[in-house]
Amino acid sequence: MESKTIHEKMFQEIKDPALFKQIQQYASEYIEQAFERNVYPEQSALANLKSFEEVFPEQSSHISTILKQLNEYGAPATVSEIGGRYFGFVVGGIVPAGLFARILTDCWDQNSAMQVLSPVSAKLEMVVEKWLQQLFHLPEQTAAGFVSGTSAATFSGLAAARYHLLKKLGWDINELGLYQAPQIRIVTGKEAHSTVLKAIGLLGLGKNHIEWVDTDDQGRIIPEKIPPLDNKTLVILQAGNVNSGSFDPFERICDQANAAGAWVHIDGAFGLWAAAVDDLKHLTKGMEKANSWSVDGHKTLNTPYDSGIILCKEREALVSALHMSGSYIVLGEERDPMFYTPEMSRRARIFEIWATMKFLGKAGINEMVGTLHKRALQFAKELTSHGFQILNKVYFNQVLVCCENDNITKATLENIQQQRVCWCGGAHWHGKAVIRISVCSWATTTKDVSKSVQSFIQARKSV
Ligand SMILES: *Cc1c(COP(=O)(O)O)cnc(C)c1O
Repeated sequence: MESKTIHEKMFQEIKDPALFKQIQQYASEYIEQAFERNVYPEQSALANLKSFEEVFPEQSSHISTILKQLNEYGAPATVSEIGGRYFGFVVGGIVPAGLFARILTDCWDQNSAMQVLSPVSAKLEMVVEKWLQQLFHLPEQTAAGFVSGTSAATFSGLAAARYHLLKKLGWDINELGLYQAPQIRIVTGKEAHSTVLKAIGLLGLGKNHIEWVDTDDQGRIIPEKIPPLDNKTLVILQAGNVNSGSFDPFERICDQANAAGAWVHIDGAFGLWAAAVDDLKHLTKGMEKANSWSVDGHKTLNTPYDSGIILCKEREALVSALHMSGSYIVLGEERDPMFYTPEMSRRARIFEIWATMKFLGKAGINEMVGTLHKRALQFAKELTSHGFQILNKVYFNQVLVCCENDNITKATLENIQQQRVCWCGGAHWHGKAVIRISVCSWATTTKDVSKSVQSFIQARKSV
């Protein structure tokens, strides 16, 4: 081996069946345990991360040694997010179809920027664009861009809004920039997600210009508090409050905005999927009247990371806002993916979204997402019967839990995290410390919920 050049080694190893076997063995061992083990890594696993602190090697290493090191010291220091007892932030599990499509297509290493770079990615983006439009009952012409997450999707949607509103006022943002441009008004709720504020900042619209709208006890915009809207206004609503899981009243606000010529963007990172569930779609009533929507694949749909989608009714505005050109660009006959995203080169994450959606079908999404809601209700019921207080109405998958006072709540959460049986984060909700439960993985069973509730009970006893 040592006498070989690095190229000889690489040509040999990329075809080495023993390496494929090795990763197959490690991966299946990992998955075998992921649903049973403690969610958070043990102290010893965290301490062992020190083994990665090496100086940059002078000579090349064997791939099997590298994989072994990852498996021995990396895998135990992962958080088991694919298992059924991770309830922190809003993090989905992984649908097997998406996982296996990912593994296969990773070997293809496709750059999905243009049709000539990857005909299959371009084709599947077109197919899934249509599937999403139909699943969410959006306007026929709705365009989709496949980005890294809702942060990037919201950025893209607001860029389209900025382009569109200014264009109609006779101002080309791409040519003229924001200096001396007519001022865009921004109207959003006091519970808007921080990534919405980030996008507003990045787009030069200025957070200080936001006209904040009051929200109710569940974090929903109070429609009566919306200021008069006009054709210079960008309204940003929310499908799924990151704490309470509540939905803004879309129908009424969209009607008002449409009449005024305002643009409505909906941040539906995890909540937009409620629109695909028979028992939950009432929550998103009227959402199809908005202009753009951001949504994640990697949360509720349980695709692998990373995966977000911008959906935009105004195809021309989205493409114009994100457009790029160059003499070397080769336009495809159908749809070139890069016109729908801020990036040019991009991983072809469409394979996983396509495989996940094809595997689940409409009925599977209905069942999988509907079950998240049922598990959240089970949590609320079992916790209530053991003396915990639930602070939100469980509309979707979020449960906000507290104890007698803030100190007990915080100490209980700390103890839950130390037990590692499940993992939850904390937040503040209407002046109170809360334990935040987000049921987001298909792998969460009724047993997982009960086992986690036991951990809550034990934690509170011990503080
Ligand atoms: C998670 C989340 C985001 C950000 O999405 P990323 O995929 O992490 O970029 C935005 N809005 C809401 C409501 C979210 O829950």
